[in-house]
Amino acid sequence: MSEGAAKKEQKPRKFQAIRGTRDLLPPETALWSHVEQTAHEVFATFGFGEIRLPIFEPTELFARSIGLDTDIVAKEMFSFEDYEPSSVLEYRSAIITWQEPRDVQGPPGPLGTGALAKFQPFSALLSSFYLAGREAFEKRLIPRTPENGSLLNELVGERDIFLSSIQSRNDRENRADVDRLKERVRRLQLGDELTLRPEATASVCRAYIEHGMQQLPQPVKLYYMGPMFRRERPQKGRYRQFYQIGAEVLGGSDAPAIDAEVIEMVMTFFDRLELQGVQLDINSIGHSADNCRRGYVEKLKAALDKVKDKLGPDSQRRIETNPLRVLDSKLESEQAIIATLPHIADHLCEDCAAHYSAVKHQLEMRGVIYRENWRLVRGLDYYMRTTFEITAQGLGSQNAVCGGGRYDGLVELLGGPPTKGIGFAIGEDRLILSLQESGKAPPQQGRDVYIAWMGERAHATAIRAAKVLRKAGFSVELPPVEQKFGKALGQADKLGAKYALILGDNEVSEGLWTLKTLADGSQEKYTEADLLEYLRKSL
Ligand code: ATP
Ligand code: MG
Repeated sequence: MSEGAAKKEQKPRKFQAIRGTRDLLPPETALWSHVEQTAHEVFATFGFGEIRLPIFEPTELFARSIGLDTDIVAKEMFSFEDYEPSSVLEYRSAIITWQEPRDVQGPPGPLGTGALAKFQPFSALLSSFYLAGREAFEKRLIPRTPENGSLLNELVGERDIFLSSIQSRNDRENRADVDRLKERVRRLQLGDELTLRPEATASVCRAYIEHGMQQLPQPVKLYYMGPMFRRERPQKGRYRQFYQIGAEVLGGSDAPAIDAEVIEMVMTFFDRLELQGVQLDINSIGHSADNCRRGYVEKLKAALDKVKDKLGPDSQRRIETNPLRVLDSKLESEQAIIATLPHIADHLCEDCAAHYSAVKHQLEMRGVIYRENWRLVRGLDYYMRTTFEITAQGLGSQNAVCGGGRYDGLVELLGGPPTKGIGFAIGEDRLILSLQESGKAPPQQGRDVYIAWMGERAHATAIRAAKVLRKAGFSVELPPVEQKFGKALGQADKLGAKYALILGDNEVSEGLWTLKTLADGSQEKYTEADLLEYLRKSL
């Protein structure tokens, strides 16, 4: 191999962001900050306080709240086992990676057969694993679940049988047993099952319960922002790590005015950002009772069963798993059929129907324009009564920028006191995309002043000038090495600077600084004090 080829081969691997994740870079990040800053401001005017939540939680929290039949829990969660380093872990790794020794010369004597010498070490590992596992189990260093308990119990017996049968079996049979035992060992749970949060409502409810927030003046109004994780097929507006800005109202009341004010708050936020083509859809999905949603779902299922053959495979499956989700279908061929299905509004119980019409009235009082959409159901199990979704322009088929709704039973389901709740989550990535597409992103701020300096004395003055200007709040670029003025001015242009401050020997000895306006090339001399005054007025 030539030297060149050898070098090429050693070239270090280049890394790329994982599919479905991405870097957000300047200048785009300025827009993200602007959006987030606006959320802080608008939500504060509605009396919401910020909550910052962990990125991961017990898998069980999401499984129980979001629902096992949802896409999120069934296939989109990033989960992992969180274990402490321990001897159990070491023995487990040793067992899982165990390989039968080659060329074993059986020692002489009664135990001297090849098979025993080969496989007895595996059995010894099992014994050590069992002892360490048992101790960890007793001391609660690994989860004390019934599954772990019985797994450990069974393992002793299986080890005994394995050990006593080694000599009466051939290598192939012993190997098969080793593989089976490896699988058993793998099943011992060493730590908690954790999941990167796919959404934050469950975490907010967990925090509400954990910190006894029902003792605070009700309702408790919280908002959050940050990354969420779902294993989805990446495409425009759909990522595996994406960002949400959301809010929740938790407390004793489900007054329709609360629903309306929450919706008004999102709409105010979008309005402030000048988001274009905003469309609010609302619906009520009632509550889980025979005279309300459950009764409706039965009727829906019956109607769907009749037209089953005309539906695609996804919808056919959903008739069994989650019939409401069929209404969500975007398949062109299914639209005419779906249009003939019964509407939930005709099947709401008296209380839910009254709540729904009061919410609409409250929205009207606030001047919030909405469209009723009987097909709007949410993909998470915990929603009831009011549900809503907001779409915006420029997003193609991923055009939902906000989803929300009421979830009165959720806190109780997670072991808390009976509590009413409503909230929403905005897809920040899509919000930003829509703002960019419609040209409503605020213009990018360039540098205010580029300091073109030449000479050692001028450098000292330039450093001082940068300090003074930055303190006054201007964005200043101070080149680290001396440049010819021509080159410096070209650089200032590229950075979009408005002014170049020229500092050479003359300027320093005169105490007069030259300011060049880059847009028209005009220049003027100022004392330090006058310069600051001038920039303050003109920038
Ligand atoms: P969709 O129907 O678009 O999959 P969803 O019902 O799964 O949305 P929610 O769980 O209600 O979405 O989340 C609220 C918002 O979060 C969505 O309206 C969307 O703007 C955003 N969102 C959801 N999943 C993603 C994702 N994978 N990438 C980017 N944004 C997302
Ligand atoms: Mg989704």
